[in-house]
Amino acid sequence: MATYTVKIVDHTKSDELQKYKGGIKRIAQERFDEAFADTPDTVTVSWGNGTEKDDLVMHFVRDVGHSFIRTKWPKARIAPNAGGHTYCADKMSCSEIYEYLNDDSRQRQQVTLAGIAIFHEALHNLLPGWSIEEMHNLDGGGEKAGLAAARYDAHSKMTERNKELIRRGFSLKTRQCL
Ligand SMILES: [Zn+2]
Repeated sequence: MATYTVKIVDHTKSDELQKYKGGIKRIAQERFDEAFADTPDTVTVSWGNGTEKDDLVMHFVRDVGHSFIRTKWPKARIAPNAGGHTYCADKMSCSEIYEYLNDDSRQRQQVTLAGIAIFHEALHNLLPGWSIEEMHNLDGGGEKAGLAAARYDAHSKMTERNKELIRRGFSLKTRQCL
């Protein structure tokens, strides 16, 4: 029986984000609960500082222009409209989620999508042997890929394969970028 910890680290210094934090955490928690239902293991999501003990660390930043990944790997290529991004290099994984899309302070990422982005980026993060494309095209891509698909929305459904993969990912310790 294992309890895995997911830490969401707030780098935004955004007062407005405070009122959305509970919702983002709840949506992410619900997704991990769904994936681990009927198993002896659990995942606990919280906001705070990432530590070596955490199984997954998600850096929450204002927008792509304020990327945490790029402070470590300046050449990382990130789509401006991405809700999140994961970079795997130097035997570690680094994931981030964006408060605003397209570097535009009028395009706040919806709470539900930010929560789902945490699950999506977790798949990339914890299975660093998979390329981004391979993960997006899981089981043929599109709806069949479930929450691994390149595009997902609030109604996208988690597939059995998504559950299997995220469980496997957590069981294999991946070094996190702190
Ligand atoms: Zn992706």
